[in-house]
Amino acid sequence: MKLETVSVRIGRDVEPAAGDVAPAIHLSTTYERDADGGFSRGYSYTRERNPTRRSLEDCIAALEGGVDAIAFASGSAASQAVFSLLRPGEHVVAPVESYHGTAKQLRTLVAPAGVECTFVDMTQVAAVEDALRPNTRLVWVETPSNPMLNLSDIEALAGLAHARGALVCVDNTFATPVCQKPFEFGADLVMHSSTKYFGGHSDAMAGAIVVREHGTWAERLRDHQGTAGAVPSPFDCWLIRRSLTTLPCRVRAQTANAGALAEFLQQHPQVERVLYPGLASHPGHALARKQMTGGFGAMLSFCVRGGRSAAFAVAARTRLFTRATSLGGVESLIEHRASVEGPHSVTPENLLRVSVGLEHVDDLIADLGAALSAHADPAS
Ligand SMILES: *Cc1c(COP(=O)(O)O)cnc(C)c1O
Repeated sequence: MKLETVSVRIGRDVEPAAGDVAPAIHLSTTYERDADGGFSRGYSYTRERNPTRRSLEDCIAALEGGVDAIAFASGSAASQAVFSLLRPGEHVVAPVESYHGTAKQLRTLVAPAGVECTFVDMTQVAAVEDALRPNTRLVWVETPSNPMLNLSDIEALAGLAHARGALVCVDNTFATPVCQKPFEFGADLVMHSSTKYFGGHSDAMAGAIVVREHGTWAERLRDHQGTAGAVPSPFDCWLIRRSLTTLPCRVRAQTANAGALAEFLQQHPQVERVLYPGLASHPGHALARKQMTGGFGAMLSFCVRGGRSAAFAVAARTRLFTRATSLGGVESLIEHRASVEGPHSVTPENLLRVSVGLEHVDDLIADLGAALSAHADPAS
């Protein structure tokens, strides 16, 4: 089944009781037992299983081409569930440059529990090879990365990891399954912040882990969901399942906007460089063509001439880009990342990250162009 059909159909069956075409929201926390004490309808308590969450999980699993998906209350709860698979004395390799919250989990939650963490430049396959140890159980990949849009070679990394019995988990939040299918390149797990493109409207928070195969890891993740208890609310599940119906349309339209905006920025004299995998100038462009089979995504970053204050000034002058964190919504957002990432940040001070939305690209280009040009003119 194609992505568009999955996004509309999977987990959105007509409700049997009244024939609702739009799915109902199952708010109940508890479910009736059978006379013999069993739960033949499959539900007992909502932390363990909920029909609205199930419909979301079924759709996310099908979108990624996995056998199951496990939903969490946030992307962070999802990544933490994956790290919970690691036991003291085991080892994880992660990128130096990743979503700062993921790196923070490894430094402040995972390492203190006795798990060894090595951070490497994941654009370099050889750096990962050097970092692998006999006790490495997990290679965490984020591609394209946040906010530098660095690319990592999923297939090459999976080959190295699997040869040593380690799992590969890819954070596919930026690309979404519309642009990139990590399982096709050998990933074992795919992680999402569903708060971003899956939700798509900046109004619901959740996360997900998709598993390629059934087995011990999948069972442990499912068990972690119910036992640790960081589950998304039925309403958030419903909102995100509703938003998935338009995921392919939104991501493709936003990707087209991002490509045009990247081209525009690249030739602007006030822009030092543009980080977007779709540009021929991007160091990972060849890899992007191989791995991002559905498009280059709708996230880009650019470095403004003139340093930190110039970057802040440009963000302040835009009218159509809201200055806010997060990404993946219908509205364009712009953000100075170094100032939100904290002391471990490796992000340049003159970098602005843009989540390109669904506004008309001519308006976006005109707005950012005006903000940059005003910056060039000291009189204004
Ligand atoms: C936002 C984000 C996360 C964390 O997700 P939350 O839903 O905010 O907890 C993880 N990875 C990436 C790439 C993100 O953008």
